[in-house]
Amino acid sequence: MEKLYANIIVDISHEKLDRSFQYRIPESMRESLEVGMVVAVPFGMGSRRMKGYVIEITDKAEYPPEKMKEILETVTDASPVESRLIALAGWMRDYYGSTMIQALKTVIPVKQKIKPKEKKSVRLLLGRAEAEEKLAFYRKKHQTARARLLEALLGGGEVPMEFVSGKLNVSSSAVKLLEEQGVLECVKRTVYRNPVQGMKSREGQVKLNEAQQAVVDAVVGEWEKKTEVYLIHGVTGCGKTEVYMELIAHAIRQGQQAIVLIPEIALTYQTVMRFYRRFGERISIMNSRLSAGERFDQFQRAREGLIDVMIGPRSALFTPFQNLGIIIIDEEHEDSYRSEITPRYHARETAIRRGEMEGAKVVLGSATPSVNAYYRAKTGEYMLFTIDKRAKESHMPEVEIVDMRRELQAGNRSILSRSMKARMEERLGRGEQMMLFLNRRGYSGVLSCRACGQPIKCPHCDVSLSLHMDGRLVCHYCGYETKKPETCPDCGSVYLRGFRVGTQQVEELVQKEFPGARILRMDLDTTREKHGHQKILEKFAAGDADILIGTQMIVKGHDFPKVTLAGVLAADLSLHANDYRCGEKTFQLLTQAAGRAGRGNLPGQVVIQTYDPENYSIRAAAAQDYRGFYEQEILFRKLAGYPPVDGMLVIHGAAESEAHLALAMDYLKKFIDVLVKRSRVQVMGPVDEQVAKINDIYRKVIYLKYHDRKILTMIKHKVEQYIEMNEGYSTVHVLFDME
Ligand code: ADP
Ligand code: ZN
Ligand code: ZN
Repeated sequence: MEKLYANIIVDISHEKLDRSFQYRIPESMRESLEVGMVVAVPFGMGSRRMKGYVIEITDKAEYPPEKMKEILETVTDASPVESRLIALAGWMRDYYGSTMIQALKTVIPVKQKIKPKEKKSVRLLLGRAEAEEKLAFYRKKHQTARARLLEALLGGGEVPMEFVSGKLNVSSSAVKLLEEQGVLECVKRTVYRNPVQGMKSREGQVKLNEAQQAVVDAVVGEWEKKTEVYLIHGVTGCGKTEVYMELIAHAIRQGQQAIVLIPEIALTYQTVMRFYRRFGERISIMNSRLSAGERFDQFQRAREGLIDVMIGPRSALFTPFQNLGIIIIDEEHEDSYRSEITPRYHARETAIRRGEMEGAKVVLGSATPSVNAYYRAKTGEYMLFTIDKRAKESHMPEVEIVDMRRELQAGNRSILSRSMKARMEERLGRGEQMMLFLNRRGYSGVLSCRACGQPIKCPHCDVSLSLHMDGRLVCHYCGYETKKPETCPDCGSVYLRGFRVGTQQVEELVQKEFPGARILRMDLDTTREKHGHQKILEKFAAGDADILIGTQMIVKGHDFPKVTLAGVLAADLSLHANDYRCGEKTFQLLTQAAGRAGRGNLPGQVVIQTYDPENYSIRAAAAQDYRGFYEQEILFRKLAGYPPVDGMLVIHGAAESEAHLALAMDYLKKFIDVLVKRSRVQVMGPVDEQVAKINDIYRKVIYLKYHDRKILTMIKHKVEQYIEMNEGYSTVHVLFDME
């Protein structure tokens, strides 16, 4: 690409100038100019000289080049990391849509006056043998909080109070009691707030196996090259984390730093300890419980070169390292990598962008990669590594798919199939535990046939129609509408049903079937109180219940060695959701659910109940066959033109007045229609969002599909300008999603 034009954010303090402007790059600067540099440009009517940040360099002019002004010169007085992050914010602002201020706030934490805060942690006073004896005692007495705390202390070093009250969920009175008994002591420090301070002990590292070493060799071999993105597709336990650590060690040897993104739910004490054992105090962690001040501290320590590795969820991506060498994204497929707050960035794309700007490697890892990442790997954009074998031996669970249509034919109308019931009975008899998943995604009411298993679909969009209260069936992509049919269009059966079972009903039904069973339920109702989620999981881990019933909340993160049965009730619910990603979500969910059974020494079983047993997502998940799933899924996306094959820009509108919103979105649609006239850009909508009203705010949406995301970005710019210039949009909140 020729470096002809530069997109530049001018004067970030000025809200009116809240977008990028394109400038010509003078001949003399074409070699040296890079994204993130600070330049001087002429601006406005009087061509006033202003400072600007280069956020993108391109060979595509957004308007006639002869009308474009030229960059004056480069200015060098900003700290490089700062200006690079500002450039990143500028890119986020352009790509995802937000104001520059919102983007900057996401990327650069607000500096606050912070009084030096005391940092508390606890330290074990007892000797190892004595402590272990004590631990056994607490366990016997079911004093689970104390046991948890002692266990963590036995892991070595000091345990930060944050962990004690947060992840470990141990009350301060319990800590005080143990302090009085001389089991532990509390220590305070006033230095920089460092979440891992005081942890100790370095352990020997493992010797990588061939598959692991191949990844390390490939990445290290290309270290000097401009960014490459690598995707490691490897089952849980295949040793990805060891690979990450080896790569981080390499970066550190080069005098560079590393960012490791891990979904918050997987960011356990054990995980952090593994990194700590390898890299000691040169690591830091970030999580949502850190205050703004603490977050600022962590970033400050990174800026000053006091740490080499930052571990954390999405927001850790913006750690201001001076010489970033590598960004790792574990569990790359997780939904939590997409921000719900404007700018609605995705950590994967944004990490790749940052990697490009700073010459850092980007390594993605997952047992079930997102279709998006896998597609990019398959098409050569990323380099793909597959690790099939687990590093340590363990059993793969045995999976059974139960056809619920047969149950109906056999006269069983219960939500539990005969096979599920029998297996549950066995478990109860043996004192083993089980988990039952109720899939609640797409719960908004899809009509499907219980005889043939098919949902009623939109003839234009290949997604399920949503059933409204008044009996209409509506497509949420194109607005297609039809009356609720009396019989199934596929097989003529009269058993048409919207799935509407909640976790509470499931609990009641299961209790009726097994009156003696001890049941725990986890859903939004039972987890409302603080740490409610954690408490339920701990009770279950302690053996206080036989059956845990829950939604997708329970499929992630935790290991329960005594669970030998994972049951999925109505696997179809997510499959029939009115979203093009439902096949992917179903596959992810079922794979994770299956992974719950048989973590310990006991072999595990999985029972998946479905009305659609031939479905590829379900089949592939049962066979733990990611590639089989992907081949089918990508075919569907190609045929229908959905992401990642085509780009999709989603324009969300929200307003208090329904009429006003309808009008505003209609006008927007007309504006867009004119913009895309004679192009192949597909415009759908405006239609109601899947949830058309939340808190008395009405919501509508317009979808645009096109293969070239650059064009969609340009359309988004124009839409933003249009909204800015029209008074009518002052009461309509408009958001964008770029997929
Ligand atoms: P993943 O991150 O893919 O889930 P981990 O890196 O956590 O996998 O590895 C799973 C387990 O196997 C860990 O206990 C780890 O210490 C161990 N392990 C990984 N690689 C090796 C190896 N090359 N040799 C011995 N043990 C290993
Ligand atoms: Zn049917
Ligand atoms: Zn449709």
